[in-house]
Amino acid sequence: MSLLLLVRREMRRGSALLLDQIAPRHCPACGGPAGVGALCDPCAQDLERRVAPQCDRCGGPLGLPGARCRGEHRELAGFAFARAPFAYRGSGGAVVRRLKFGHDLLAARFLARAMAREIAAWARGPGRRARVVSVPLHPRKRRQRRIDQAALLADLVAAETGLGLWPGLLCRQRETLPQADPRVVSRAANVAGAFTVRRRSGCPGATLVLVDDVRTSGSTALECGRALRAAGARQLVLLTATQA
Ligand SMILES: [Zn+2]
Ligand SMILES: [Zn+2]
Repeated sequence: MSLLLLVRREMRRGSALLLDQIAPRHCPACGGPAGVGALCDPCAQDLERRVAPQCDRCGGPLGLPGARCRGEHRELAGFAFARAPFAYRGSGGAVVRRLKFGHDLLAARFLARAMAREIAAWARGPGRRARVVSVPLHPRKRRQRRIDQAALLADLVAAETGLGLWPGLLCRQRETLPQADPRVVSRAANVAGAFTVRRRSGCPGATLVLVDDVRTSGSTALECGRALRAAGARQLVLLTATQA
């Protein structure tokens, strides 16, 4: 059974037991012994949470309630709002890397729970009919890495929020360099036209939560958003585990 199917089955059952048996409790950021909370104490101190007061649109910190956001909202064209519970610098990025390269299920669960909390109120109210989709990897990269971290996070977020899941809606039709790769001159050009929508028939009028592990410049999300809107999606929300 694949990792994803195993996790999905356990999350649907609401049981954390099996996961804890597979992976005894450890810190999902450094792999050392866990502390009082989910992370060990040094990693907990190094975790940058994005907390209130936040901008309604981009989720960035405002300093004071009602202050004007200095975030770059052009990166969110087509998205109703974006949320990310953690900054990528510090422990947030370390947890993402343990998920991506160490296939750490506790890391996935830690991130997904925090992500679900970000949209919990919306998902119970105006977003209750939304479905969760993920930024896809190219099939070759997925085979190499043996894990599609965004698909796993989307699955867990759907289970945590009770929203529907729409696996494999988007596909990456050509390979792109990682957006942080020094060879990337233009992040927008790197991902331009890279994504297509499968099964467009369910898209018209849909509200979709687009899930990814990291938000960097926003070009990847913009490009996915463009493809989803062209297929008829009405409202899009961007939910990432971290923001660079
Ligand atoms: Zn740690
Ligand atoms: Zn903002």
